[in-house]
Amino acid sequence: MEQVDCVVIGAGVVGLAIARQLAMAGREVLICEAEGQIGQHCSSRNSEVIHAGLYYPTGSLKARLCVQGRAMLYRYCAERHIPHQRIGKLLLANTAADMPRLKDIARRAAANGVEDLQWLDAAGVRALEPVLNVHAALLSPSTGIVDSHALLQALLADAEAHGAQLACHSPLSRGRVLADGMELEIAGITIKARSVINAAGAWAPAVAASMAGVPRETIPTAHYARGVYFSLSGRSPFSRLIYPLPEAGGLGCHLTLDLAGQARFGPDVAWIDGVDYRLDPARAAAFYHSIRRWWPQLPDGALQPAYAGVRPKLAGPGEPDADFVIQGPAQHGVAGLINLYGIESPGLTSCLALAALVGAMANHTT
Ligand SMILES: Cc1cc2nc3c(=O)[nH]c(=O)nc-3n(C[C@H](O)[C@H](O)[C@H](O)COP(=O)(O)OP(=O)(O)OC[C@H]3O[C@@H](n4cnc5c(N)ncnc54)[C@H](O)[C@@H]3O)c2cc1C
Repeated sequence: MEQVDCVVIGAGVVGLAIARQLAMAGREVLICEAEGQIGQHCSSRNSEVIHAGLYYPTGSLKARLCVQGRAMLYRYCAERHIPHQRIGKLLLANTAADMPRLKDIARRAAANGVEDLQWLDAAGVRALEPVLNVHAALLSPSTGIVDSHALLQALLADAEAHGAQLACHSPLSRGRVLADGMELEIAGITIKARSVINAAGAWAPAVAASMAGVPRETIPTAHYARGVYFSLSGRSPFSRLIYPLPEAGGLGCHLTLDLAGQARFGPDVAWIDGVDYRLDPARAAAFYHSIRRWWPQLPDGALQPAYAGVRPKLAGPGEPDADFVIQGPAQHGVAGLINLYGIESPGLTSCLALAALVGAMANHTT
């Protein structure tokens, strides 16, 4: 049987950041990825926004890791020349009736350590974004955008430079808890590992359930919320990210810009039964309706179907949002195993902070 010190399951942005962290700490790391390439799921099907940390309940992992992760990510992008921009974001109150919710978000953001928000009245908003016709807005100058593909490549390059190995086309099919580690079956090969990090995104609960000896009652039920994006044909009249107030299951159908200035709108929220990236062009009607609440001049025919992503959720429709869940031996009793569940937004922003946390846990759990 082959032996490896650490196996990281999943080569999304979180798995790669953790592999990098462990490899840089001198551990032997094998990354096993089911697909033929890195980052084929959530990590390449998102808004590519570096979130400031406004929305999440104070003290939650999402709040803490987003604020820490944002600072770490800006530093890392600068050091590694990863394309990114601190472009700023406007969070809108369309009417006076939206103000109490916007004020709640401002209070929560301050409690989370986000101290640079600025209030703008209607004229202040128009001075920044002339086509916006809203009651007021919060400006978040520290929100930004990042090239997620370049980020994935940089994390992998760092991990490999410190000896980590990536195996693509290598799904973990099952595992078993041993007295001194875990036995894993990966692409038909049996491997023994001292540490196993389950960073399989939407499949993390299924991966945990495929390992004999992991207590079933510790594995959460997976829920899936698809979000689709439509791109704007032609030039964007906006130079910042534009967000309405959050909706159940997501941050609201917002406008993001990529680093080439191309605008896209999304993601909406549709509860589905499993990972499925189908994009029904008929959803455009709801997009026109929602965007015209703050940009009435959006021309007919301007939206083109772009892509879809699926949020790996731990709460279902109508339930309050769940936090990230990171389980080590203290939660499930299996030495050496760390499971990451529900790593939805702001997981991209938080990847380096998540990696630091998991890296520290991994040093104490074997
Ligand atoms: C619509 C949408 C918009 C978002 N927008 C933002 C945003 O703007 N900012 C932000 O910070 N976050 C955002 N997020 C969240 C962010 O994209 C995720 O938190 C992050 O990409 C999660 O990375 P991951 O590595 O955990 O998962 P993934 O990228 O899904 O990676 C998991 C990997 O595990 C692999 N895998 C699965 N099963 C197995 C197996 N059995 N064996 C081996 N490998 C396996 C998969 O193939 C996959 O590559 C958004 C998410 C969505 C869905």
